[in-house]
Amino acid sequence: MKESTTHFSHIGETVMANCGQSMKIIAYKNYKNIDVEFEDGTVICSKTYAAFKKGQILNPNLVKSQQIGEVITAVNGQQMKIVARRSCRDIDVMFEDGTLVTGVEYSNFLKGNIKNPNFKYSSKYEVGSSYMGSNGITFTIIDKRHSNDIDIKFEDGTVSKHVKTGAISARNVRHPSINQRGYGVFCNFEVSRAFKDDNGVFYRCKCSKCGLEDIMTPQQMVKHYGLLHEEN
Ligand SMILES: [Zn+2]
Repeated sequence: MKESTTHFSHIGETVMANCGQSMKIIAYKNYKNIDVEFEDGTVICSKTYAAFKKGQILNPNLVKSQQIGEVITAVNGQQMKIVARRSCRDIDVMFEDGTLVTGVEYSNFLKGNIKNPNFKYSSKYEVGSSYMGSNGITFTIIDKRHSNDIDIKFEDGTVSKHVKTGAISARNVRHPSINQRGYGVFCNFEVSRAFKDDNGVFYRCKCSKCGLEDIMTPQQMVKHYGLLHEEN
């Protein structure tokens, strides 16, 4: 079987690769030797036309984080997840309340800048509402005198008073005993911030009660303390 290059050309044919990006044929020597270009500009050489048609060419530059399933916190404080991705300018996300928003840009997803049409902004920042800060620590509003005078309680029981709405909406609420660089004390652990992934913000930590050293999220530290050191 021989491909004729005189009658027609495959150059310019575009398909959706299995990695979620579109790719285009930019050179076609024969059906066993083609070059393709992904939408991000990555060029891959010497692939087969069959692999192209099946979408089975991998883009090595496609970072894992751009894949379906990536979760981020939107500016409204809700979690949202990528559920479909046709190109970097055309993804579908689902909010934690099940609301599906289609056809948004990945760059806006990364900034958390996607609106949930079902989210009631009027119910925002009321007593009893809980949020997770960018430091990975959750807190609950326990009193609100006016929009810029809010008291919150962190999950380890620490209370911060007179917090502003802006700090809560930016999730930029510092825990009083952890400094800006992520060092301090949380729930009887000495902590220093380590890294962040889909499961939360992790800290290197040492329990002042039992000496355990580990890398944990604030939630895991609270659990450890509750299980092993809390009276009753
Ligand atoms: Zn301990």
